Amino acid sequence: MIRKNKLLSMHSIFIALLVFAGNSIQAAELKIFGAIAMQEITADLAPKFERATGHKLVVIPDTLGGIIKRIEGGESADLVMLPAPGISNLVRQGKAADADVRNIARSSVGMAIRKGSNKPDISTPEAFRKSMLASKSVFISDPAQGGFVTPHLLNVFARLGISEEMKSKLVFTKTAGTAGIQETISSSNVDIGLNQLQEFSPVSSMEIVGPLPGDLGLTTTFAGVVLNGAKETQAAQAWISFLRSPEAATVIRAKGMEVAWSESCNASPVTVQILGSGGPVVSKDRASSSYLLWIDGRSRMLVDMGGGAFLRFGQAEAKLTDLSLAAMSHFHPDHVADLPALFWLSNRVRKEPLPFFGPSGNAKVPGVNEFLSRLFDVERGAFQVMGTAMGAPQVGDEGGGVKLDVSAVDITKNEPITIFERDGMKVTALTIPHGNIPALAYRVETRGVSVVFSSDQTGTNPKFVDFVRGSNVLIMHMAIAAGTTNALHAAPAVIGRIAQQAGVGRLIVSHIGPFDVNAAVLELRTTYSGPLTIGADLQCTPVKQ
Ligand SMILES: [Zn+2]
Ligand SMILES: [Zn+2]
Repeated sequence: MIRKNKLLSMHSIFIALLVFAGNSIQAAELKIFGAIAMQEITADLAPKFERATGHKLVVIPDTLGGIIKRIEGGESADLVMLPAPGISNLVRQGKAADADVRNIARSSVGMAIRKGSNKPDISTPEAFRKSMLASKSVFISDPAQGGFVTPHLLNVFARLGISEEMKSKLVFTKTAGTAGIQETISSSNVDIGLNQLQEFSPVSSMEIVGPLPGDLGLTTTFAGVVLNGAKETQAAQAWISFLRSPEAATVIRAKGMEVAWSESCNASPVTVQILGSGGPVVSKDRASSSYLLWIDGRSRMLVDMGGGAFLRFGQAEAKLTDLSLAAMSHFHPDHVADLPALFWLSNRVRKEPLPFFGPSGNAKVPGVNEFLSRLFDVERGAFQVMGTAMGAPQVGDEGGGVKLDVSAVDITKNEPITIFERDGMKVTALTIPHGNIPALAYRVETRGVSVVFSSDQTGTNPKFVDFVRGSNVLIMHMAIAAGTTNALHAAPAVIGRIAQQAGVGRLIVSHIGPFDVNAAVLELRTTYSGPLTIGADLQCTPVKQ
């Protein structure tokens, strides 16, 4: 077990080095402003990082207010590790780029007790209220120390209508953080403490009961960001990346915090994430069609933007500034409805135009250029306030959207067309049969692996099997139930046959409707024997050989 952990740790550090160190292997000294809540995690991980990279970390712990004051006062550092609102503050002031912000850990406010004392019931807000009333005394941080936990707790008591009763029970710790907790528990007979849970975990004489129940809780996300003007940008990024490695996850949990990034989405350099695994029919847990391709932890390509993509894009912690391109498969509403929502005001965060691809039109359906100008044209569009998306000049402060560099992919050519070759990615498109709606599948090659986004289709273009051949991951749309056929969509057995013939590494089925999924998978399995993933919203799949 120990041996395995060691290997794992060397592996993740090695990846961090490979990705970020590039050619420069010079040792750097990194100056870091770190929130006090991050101290325990940093103390554990820093020596490992230093040993593996040769870099040296100089961490200056301070309160959020203290760190903001230092930066505003002109004190420089390479990076900060702070609660998310503090980071947003720095981004607003132009001290760091929003695209570089990476979540690290989450903490909850909760209760801990002296080991061996009776465990109060805090399973519901009402149980918590009763436990507070039954307690002799409770210790919390002195409000004079600053911070946000004590004001939150006082507010909780007020909401529960027990402010008066609690007044005589409250004992304030004299010092901030773990030191204050340690002092109080050893020098008084108070058995119950309320604070951020990770503050309790180093105190051996206490045990954690749990976070405050229901909506009484308070969760804080801590994130890291490289500051503008940092001297050691690459080493700083490597440290933040290390804080999001599988090894760091183990330490974060051991210190009483939660991991604040999607672990499966960071486990491989190339990952495909489903933002919406549903189709046109309303579902309580599937957004309409949308996908993200992650490369080295950055959201590089967005494929389709069906209803719900707006929310899922945010939940996935994707960044508009990280996108190299966006590609539309076709213009059915379940693939495009959130396009205005996602790009409205996008020019506030992203300055460079976004390469944007979609099918050319036919007699019945507009092509991508016409579709977008009917939406955004500054004279005749439905959203004239987003005229900047079509290249109109920004007028005053009335909003806008990042300029879209639109290219129509000719759907009359029944051959793969290379549409994008940049940022280490090669993207090809192939026309696919979807009734009389112009539609495209996309194949991406990057880092020696490949993924195909098949979109809605009947699966009857024989060239599609060649287009997919040898891909590591194929996403197909399983839009109809077992035993049915449809003029627009492939039956489950057809999906399976394509994946089998093309010899894909893994098949993901998505665009799943309100039918019996097990029955559909059974039908698919009559023609496909390889690895299979049933798609779900926000699910990540590594794209590996
Ligand atoms: Zn669809
Ligand atoms: Zn469709």
